[in-house]
Amino acid sequence: MWLAPLKGEEREKLAAQMSAENASLQKRKDTWLWESRGQAYLVSGHKERAVELLQKMRMHTAMKQLSCSNSKDLLASKRYLEEKREIAFGKKLLGSRDFFVIAGPCALEEASSFAQQLKQLKRQGVRLVRAGCYKPRTSPYSFTGLEGKGYELLGKICREEGMFCVSEVLDERSLEEAAAFVDVFQIGARNMHNHSLLKKVARYEKKVLLKRGLCATYQEWLLSAECLLNGGCFDVILCERGIRSFCDEGRFTLDLQALCAMREKTHLPIIVDPSHACGKSAWVPSMAKAALAAGADGIMVEVHPDPASARCDGDQALTIQQFEKMHQDLGSLATALGRSIC
Ligand code: PEP
Ligand code: MN
Repeated sequence: MWLAPLKGEEREKLAAQMSAENASLQKRKDTWLWESRGQAYLVSGHKERAVELLQKMRMHTAMKQLSCSNSKDLLASKRYLEEKREIAFGKKLLGSRDFFVIAGPCALEEASSFAQQLKQLKRQGVRLVRAGCYKPRTSPYSFTGLEGKGYELLGKICREEGMFCVSEVLDERSLEEAAAFVDVFQIGARNMHNHSLLKKVARYEKKVLLKRGLCATYQEWLLSAECLLNGGCFDVILCERGIRSFCDEGRFTLDLQALCAMREKTHLPIIVDPSHACGKSAWVPSMAKAALAAGADGIMVEVHPDPASARCDGDQALTIQQFEKMHQDLGSLATALGRSIC
């Protein structure tokens, strides 16, 4: 969705077109026109989103005297909307006091052990599950995921347990395959800059988890989110997953400062992935607690029933016992911080 104040000739032309078709705040193809205080705003995208935005605009307008009429403000920016975005998963809201612990294997490897693992995670209170179905790997000979049928398995098993799932999408084909089964589309770090993919993703009525690129600046990350918002997708969750640095231990370097910097810039919720940042399971619980203490809206961690035999990212996967211990510690910390874990 995009919104821009129209002036002069441009406005006259559109208004004429609209009135010829008897429209004031009306749909014309995929476009709505809203008039207020002598300015016209063009809104296009999904209808529901447009209505929601218009409602917000009205509120905002009343409070801010059209301070959001400056089309230079990014839709993802705090200047555009001050109110923090909350994204609903059942009754729980990501972006609120609830600290989301998203967990699951790097890749969905096999249905029955995955279903069993889900039950264990559910007992811990996990409601949003991660599992990759397309795994882009360094070597073409490594396990590359169960692909399309993986999404179907993931979606069905999660639904049976009443859980939500997030899984990475890579291209048009994977989007089509995942759409019916996956609750949240994940954009991997290596695809953050792929605006052509982001535009395609935005066309789906889905929540999106946007990982930060390995070498992306905050502004580049924000502009990738903008690409999604601009395309009609407002439920965007940012994920800090570690960046390249000169540190010679661990896989990447977790940039917790990103939480402070991005909070100042955007109304979108922000989570942290300590698994891909650290690359070592032993470091994950400390960084998970640090993320909670630093004000993240949640974490996403890799858990595997037997990390030593994992087909992907075993070194960074927690066992279920390690996960349970971390979950307990996070619970105590959350209480001290006036938050709750879900
Ligand atoms: C993942 O979460 O499965 C993944 C591949 O992460 P990233 O894109 O951050 O490397
Ligand atoms: Mn992984």
